Amino acid sequence: MKEPTASNAPGVLASPEDVLTTLRSDGKRRWMYPVESKGRFLNRRRILGWALIVLYFALPLIRIGGKPSVMLDFVHREFALFGLIFYPTDTLLLMIFMVGIMLSIVLITALLGRVWCGWACPQTVYLEFLFRPIERLIEGPEHARKRRDEGASSWDRTKRKIAKQGIFLVLALLLSHTFIAYFVGWEALLGWLQGPPAENWGFFLLTALVTGLVWFDFAYFREQMCTIACPYARMQSIMLDRDSMIVSYDPNRGEPRKRRSKKILQDENEGLVAAQGDCIDCFACVRTCPTGIDIRDGLQMECVTCTQCIDACDHIMDNIGKPRGLIRYTSENQLEGVKTNVVRPRSVIYGVLIILIFSAFSVVLSNRNDYDLNVGRAVGEPFSELPDGRIANRLRFRVRNQTNVASTFDIFPDTPSGTEMRIIGATPIELAPGEMKRVEVWIIIPREAFTTTSIEGHFEVNFSDGHIEHPVFTLLGPDSN
Ligand code: SF4
Ligand code: SF4
Repeated sequence: MKEPTASNAPGVLASPEDVLTTLRSDGKRRWMYPVESKGRFLNRRRILGWALIVLYFALPLIRIGGKPSVMLDFVHREFALFGLIFYPTDTLLLMIFMVGIMLSIVLITALLGRVWCGWACPQTVYLEFLFRPIERLIEGPEHARKRRDEGASSWDRTKRKIAKQGIFLVLALLLSHTFIAYFVGWEALLGWLQGPPAENWGFFLLTALVTGLVWFDFAYFREQMCTIACPYARMQSIMLDRDSMIVSYDPNRGEPRKRRSKKILQDENEGLVAAQGDCIDCFACVRTCPTGIDIRDGLQMECVTCTQCIDACDHIMDNIGKPRGLIRYTSENQLEGVKTNVVRPRSVIYGVLIILIFSAFSVVLSNRNDYDLNVGRAVGEPFSELPDGRIANRLRFRVRNQTNVASTFDIFPDTPSGTEMRIIGATPIELAPGEMKRVEVWIIIPREAFTTTSIEGHFEVNFSDGHIEHPVFTLLGPDSN
């Protein structure tokens, strides 16, 4: 993190530019014009970025076991994750899973720093490989755009902005539909799209809202999502340690930095003048940074590990005949000449915990019933007496099919003997994969079965796949005295 200096020491209100790179001293937003730096890391990120853009679009479309590979259906309280379906009754399972995922994020961050932010987060991937390339195509390279933006208004600037924002809006519309598909699935989405707006105004309102937010984010908010809004950035300091891999400038090699010509550099190499550090203070690493920071100030919360400064500096090093890697992936320990430890108490503890948590998850999952069955009393009188003296209880069976195949089921009374049952509705009851049904039944019990006011009723629920459940429920009757 930034070392305290006279200007940023606690208690001293530093210039706003020292606190936030995106803020001017007058409080206005400072627009970022990050120059694209070509290089090996950008090539790799671009390949991965496009693979992820396709994946993020395809995940709600790819079906596994009849369900979208990822769908978080909050309305029906059903989460589909790569073939696993979580229902409301799976709170424990879901909790274990989420804890495992969170610990995995902590472990990955401890080992590889903010690799997620720079390489895989949809915010970075869409901004850097979809929106910014379109912006460059329409408005030209960053220096031209900056000059035009800061110059007098012109038709040339206006028409470029209109064209750009028009395309951004279309992309935002596409991304918002993809985003909503993660929560409702494409089938429902297409159904709503084809229906008249008056019947689906809620959907159109939601789509308009999400489209507006996506457009606002990628057209305006941009890097502030990472530097201001995202909680992950705030938490990174507790996840990183001195062995974590970070993008860092090597001050041992770079300092004392000095802007100088190729001729002086050549003289330095030949020992004709005193050698300076390898950093020629060209600011290429700063100009390319999407969050506007100077990596030479040390590890900062705003760094999203996009590696653009590595590519920028490597290019400079190639030009001045110095070895690449003045800015590189490294750890704080390695920068100080100490070996980076991949195996360290923190990574071992996290690793062991993750193994234990996912083992517990597998055990709970493998013991999960194919059907979730719950018996309760239906609303109304606790019991009623029939004209022939028998006692009737009205019960409600709630059954959920937790398998990926359709099924049917039927309910039979077991004990007390002589009990009859009347199901309200047709039998057998059909259950689609993941479907939950409530069935109300009348249980008619011989009066003599009630030696006390409450007795146990045993039932048998037979499913079409051969599965049998034996629920027990308390039946109520009159006081036998
Ligand atoms: S790009 Fe490299 S040489 Fe240029 S200022 Fe940054 S660290 Fe120094
Ligand atoms: S400092 Fe480098 S790695 Fe970090 S955000 Fe800026 S350009 Fe990307």
